[in-house]
Amino acid sequence: MRCPERGVFPAEYRVWCFLMAFDAIFVDRDGTINVEQSDYVKSLDEFELLPGAIEALVRLSDLGIPIIIVTNQSAIGRGLTSAARIDEIHAALTAQVLAAGGRLDAIYVCPHHPEARCSCRKPKPGMLLAAAARFGIQLRRSVLIGDSVTDLGVARAVGCTPIMVRTGLHAQEVAALAKEDLSVLLVNDLSDAVSWLLANAEMSTHRPPDPADRV
Ligand SMILES: [Mg+2]
Ligand SMILES: [Zn+2]
Repeated sequence: MRCPERGVFPAEYRVWCFLMAFDAIFVDRDGTINVEQSDYVKSLDEFELLPGAIEALVRLSDLGIPIIIVTNQSAIGRGLTSAARIDEIHAALTAQVLAAGGRLDAIYVCPHHPEARCSCRKPKPGMLLAAAARFGIQLRRSVLIGDSVTDLGVARAVGCTPIMVRTGLHAQEVAALAKEDLSVLLVNDLSDAVSWLLANAEMSTHRPPDPADRV
């Protein structure tokens, strides 16, 4: 992470910087929470959680700010699966996080085919803009945890702080980017991303949304 005074600095020197205040945490799905499949995750039986992902999401809820999943699911637009099947996956994921003591405040899905040129498919910012309006948050004060260049692209476009993980299919590409651009924070997995946030982010006084509003 970059310190305004000192540029990029190693973790042991973070005491020199103030804790950062964030409004919300955006989390990508495939390759970040669950195993990315080269032929898409089309149904619940193809949804395989990454090790430690649920525990990481539960720990994230300690920050007291909205936790929002933003996911491109072009398999719907390609006719390989349906919105109902994707909803089934998200209902199961939400239930599992709740059962473990955490929460997911919203899940935004872009169902469109890449050629549909929608405004929501990452790296377009539509899903993040919709969430910002709904939750009254500033994207410049938010974080996006993801595994791919499209996640980094959307984070840069709206001014979110990106945290990249190595658990997706694009790990090498992302590692190469982080090597070139030292402002890209690259960690092993979602669990390490959450540990970084818990160490560097101020606990919020921003009230989490009412449970009735959660997806
Ligand atoms: Mg991904
Ligand atoms: Zn879309």
